Amino acid sequence: MKSEADRYHGTVLVTGAGGFIGHHLVKFLKSKGLWVRGVDIKKPEYEPSPADEFLVQDLRVPENCQQSVRGVRDVYQLAADMGGIGYITRNFASLSRNNVLINANMLQASHLEGVDRYLYSSSACVYPSFLQHAESVKGLREQDAIPADPEKGYGWEKLFAEQLTTYYGEDYGLGVHVVRLHNVYGPLGAYQGGREKAPAAICRKVAEAEEGSAIEVWGDGEQTRSFCYVGDCVDGLSRIMESDDAKPINLGTEELVTINELVELVCGVAGKHLRKQYDVSQPQGVRGRNSDNSRLRKVLNWEPKTRLEDGLKRTYPWIWSRLDKTGTAKPPRPKEALGPPIPR
Ligand code: NAD
Repeated sequence: MKSEADRYHGTVLVTGAGGFIGHHLVKFLKSKGLWVRGVDIKKPEYEPSPADEFLVQDLRVPENCQQSVRGVRDVYQLAADMGGIGYITRNFASLSRNNVLINANMLQASHLEGVDRYLYSSSACVYPSFLQHAESVKGLREQDAIPADPEKGYGWEKLFAEQLTTYYGEDYGLGVHVVRLHNVYGPLGAYQGGREKAPAAICRKVAEAEEGSAIEVWGDGEQTRSFCYVGDCVDGLSRIMESDDAKPINLGTEELVTINELVELVCGVAGKHLRKQYDVSQPQGVRGRNSDNSRLRKVLNWEPKTRLEDGLKRTYPWIWSRLDKTGTAKPPRPKEALGPPIPR
């Protein structure tokens, strides 16, 4: 068993540090006393990064990747062109090209610069569509990914980047980790503009709705998902980096809910009674998706513990307060979030 000090030594690069999970990860690693370099094509939107060094770089360019990894021991590769279901189903070519370039260049740079450990943030979108046709879906196990039929564009690229990461481990001895994230949400994430995911989009719609009015829900609301609070996500990423496990591993929760249930939970947190208006012409992704955490429990003896309702109690007030600043939030004003945005 490693001591706390051993678990968190060395210098670290977080790519995508201007984004949602990357920014939380930088905060988490800084709180453990590490020296952290953040890299992104943009700075974090909502608060300054606590990174020791922050480089604004386009990681599609090989030289920028090499400069970014120089001198670090560990790389968390979180940079990606991505967004919610609307965004990823409207930008197949550009999104795939951008992510192929980022992942290929980051791996090669890490190999050339002698990085020890490399964690790739993959996604549940790699899982085959044919296993996700029903709402009451069985949890997806890591071995289910192949034979492949992943989400068009984003999912195919993630699956290939997983393979590429594995080859760098096998051929060059890079200490690789491949993590499949399942629907991460929390404060400081995109909540408008098209890149937001379902929990943030629902929080925004509920926050902007007058008591008793209706909000738009994409699909018929019976599609299912599980959601992982960002505090658990960054803790899990760090635990997986410290493990000896090199194979793809799920990082999510097994708390399956329909989108209708998600809306009800957010309304409960908001203290509003709203009707739902369904727009079935909008993309809804696969019908059902859940994580199977058996391997995660076996490898780490740990799994995300924050219940969706508790995570929403930290997320909704943050989104409401952002919208309040632009005058679009409607009463009631939510109670202050319970405790800090990261639970542990
Ligand atoms: P995000 O969009 O908030 O962060 C990604 C960051 O990558 C952004 O800040 C973006 O500016 C940066 N980026 C994009 N192109 C770049 C480039 N050319 N050079 C440098 N930086 C670039 O997304 P996130 O939710 O924080 O996701 C982080 C990682 O986790 C991504 O790889 C994503 O695919 C993966 N993931 C996220 C979820 C989720 O639910 N949020 C689920 C599965 C997988």
